Formats: sequence, structure tokens, C-alpha cells
Amino acid sequence: MLQRIYATAWADKKDLKAYLDMLEEAAKRDHRKLGKEMDLFHFEPEYAPGAVFWHDKGYKIYRKLIEYMRNRQENNGYIEISTPRVMDRVLWEISGHWDKYGAHNYSGQTEDKKWFCIKPMNCPGGLLVYKQGIKSYRDLPLRVAEFGKVNRYEASGALMGLMRVREFTQDDAHIFCTPEQMEEECITTLKLILDIYKDFGFEDVKIYLSTRPDSIYRIGSDEIWDLCENALANALTSHGYKYEINPGEGAFYGPKLEFILKDAIGREWQCGTIQVDMNLPERFDISYIGEDGEKHRPVMLHRALFGSIERFLGILIENHAGKLPLWLSPLQVMVAPIISEFDDYAKEVVQTLKKAGLSAEADLRNEKINYKVREHSLAKIPVIAVVGAKERDNKTVTVRRLGSEKQEVISLDEFVKALKAEATMPHLGE
Ligand code: ZN
Repeated sequence: MLQRIYATAWADKKDLKAYLDMLEEAAKRDHRKLGKEMDLFHFEPEYAPGAVFWHDKGYKIYRKLIEYMRNRQENNGYIEISTPRVMDRVLWEISGHWDKYGAHNYSGQTEDKKWFCIKPMNCPGGLLVYKQGIKSYRDLPLRVAEFGKVNRYEASGALMGLMRVREFTQDDAHIFCTPEQMEEECITTLKLILDIYKDFGFEDVKIYLSTRPDSIYRIGSDEIWDLCENALANALTSHGYKYEINPGEGAFYGPKLEFILKDAIGREWQCGTIQVDMNLPERFDISYIGEDGEKHRPVMLHRALFGSIERFLGILIENHAGKLPLWLSPLQVMVAPIISEFDDYAKEVVQTLKKAGLSAEADLRNEKINYKVREHSLAKIPVIAVVGAKERDNKTVTVRRLGSEKQEVISLDEFVKALKAEATMPHLGE
């Protein structure tokens, strides 16, 4: 009989203690535990292993992430499409994904003897949209985004909360451009990705350049690989971005940049990628008419910034230990009257907040105020506004911030003004 034993080794007691503290902190921040306490989502391992059941509050955060990304993309010249989730398997045979990942696909035969596949990636859909109508060099670069839901059959032992799932949403985009535009597009995408991570509090980002895998595991000629790898490396060096090389770790169709975020307790998470691809344009035979009036093959960049929205949300919960920034919080303010006599004023405060575009609710239950505060703190509501006689008579609120023992009495007007600024989504309306 065999037993597997895991062990770690540390140079001194100080390092060991730091590691144990990190584990303890990580357990406190576990997104599966917080997801339950905050009533965000749950899983049904028996009925839908590795797939998320979003509850109201969790789905609100999910939608805010999409809204944020959609806004950034629109301001950066992207268009957005949506393509079918179930398509003929032949598309992934053309793309080469079937050979490589066939066993990880959900597929089945229909009555008409056709094999269909739930999409494991969005690329073929994007290519079919590109193929509609003749494209000219004037149409490029064409940046096409899709919040595409994909399914991949991961081994059941590998599933882990939101971090490793079988069904997830990519903030995917395909950028079609001329070979001459490729480097510039890599630079623009790099800048956007790093700027977006900053909005979520991730300043410490590692970049890896993954180069061509062994020749038996890749498609495309060596010249094409040289061109693609150089475009990514030049984009990085020309703007002074530090990076490391992951030899042989590229996708089978092209090299890629991987972005690793460091969270508040020093753990690293791989999120975004930019992949250069000159192979799928070939396989799907897409083209554009150049200045010379001839047909040319465009280059395709695949890029995802969050990566998987589900996973990014899990990382955010753990990074912030559930205390999400106000603009991302599904419920921003809970108004709690001390006794039912002040219910009307509590409702008035909620209405004022809602009018200002904030999400607020009143807790009118017949419970002790300390009980209410404790419960809403556990649910990680960022702001609790307590109201009683003084508050009602003076048009004020007593504010408690999540994680702080301090209480502050401020006028309702000031309160709304301060929260409004903080609750505005970064870069909105730019
Ligand atoms: Zn793709």
C-alpha cells in the first residue's frame, strides 16, 4: 500500500513561520468559504460538476466585470460579437483543436448523424464572422471581442471552486491585422492589459513569453514562428517591459505572452494572455485585399485579459479578502434603523442613495442593531448606515465601514456625494 506525503522545507524558522502565516491567511480568504458567507454562488457537484450557479449578488459582480471590460474595449476600438455555443465538430477539426484536445470536449451526435461540439474556445466563431464579406486593408486592424462561454472537460480531481471549472466565460477577443500592424497591436494590447490590472489593485505583474513547443507538437513553419516570437519580444523590449522566457510553452499554433498577478498575500495567479497566430488564418482561409489590390493573409491575435471571468472573480475575492472595492460591490450600502420607529427615515435614505445610482437596501427586521451590524459585516457589505432619532432629526447617518470599528456621523448629502464618487466604475464614459 502506498501513501502520498507532501512536505515543504525552509531555510530557517522565520521563513517557515511566514509560510504558515500565509497558509492561515489563505484559508481565511478562501473564495469558496467567502462565496458562501457573501451569498455569491454555489456548486452542484452531483448535477453540474465544475459549473457555477450564480446567485443574485455574485451575478451582479460578474455583470459588473463584463460592463467594465466592455467599456474599456469600446474605448479602445473593439467591436463585440456573439457566436453559437454549439457548432459542428468539423470546425475544431479544421482548427486543429480536436486532434489536440478532443478528449476535453463535450460533443455528441444528433438525429441527423452530425457531430456537434459545445465550444471549448471562441476562435472558429470569430473567424466565421470575419469571413462575412470582403475585407480591405482599410478595415484592419479589426478588433473583435466576445464574452464567450466555453466548456472543457477537466478531470474531476482537478476542479477547484471558481479557480478550475468546466464551464467558464472568457473575455475573449481576436484582433485581425496585417503582419506590419502586428507589433503595434501587441504594444497597444500590452498597455491596455497592464492598465486594467491596475484598476483592480494588481500593480505587480510578471510577464512570460512562451516560445515554440517541440516540432512534433506545433503547426506552421519556422519562419512564421520567428516572425511571431519577434513581434512579441519587440513589443516588450521597445517599451521597457521586463519579462522572462518560458521555452517551449507556447500554444501549438503560436507563441504567447502570459500575465501573472501577485495578490495581497504574495500568491501568483496566471490570468491574461496574448497569443500571436498565423496558422488559424491559414486553416480557415481568411484574407484581406491589400493596397496592391491583391489578396493577403491577415495575422490573428487571440487575447483575454481577465482570462476567465469566473476565475478572475475568485482571485478578486481572495485578494481583497471579500472586501471588494465599492464600485464592484453588489450591495453597497445597508441602512439599518435602530428600532422600527425610524423605518420611514431608513427608507428615505435608501431612496436617496438609489436615486444617486448606488445600490442600497434597508434592514427593517425586528432585530437588535448589533446583530444586524454583525450579520452584514460577515456578508461583507462595505457600508452600513445606522439611523435613529438624532439622524432622522438632523438628516444625517451614522456610517460604519467594513473592517473598521470607527463610526462617523455625516449629513445625508455629504454621504451620498462621497459614496457616488467612490462607487463610479473606473474609466466610465472616457
Ligand atoms: Zn482564439
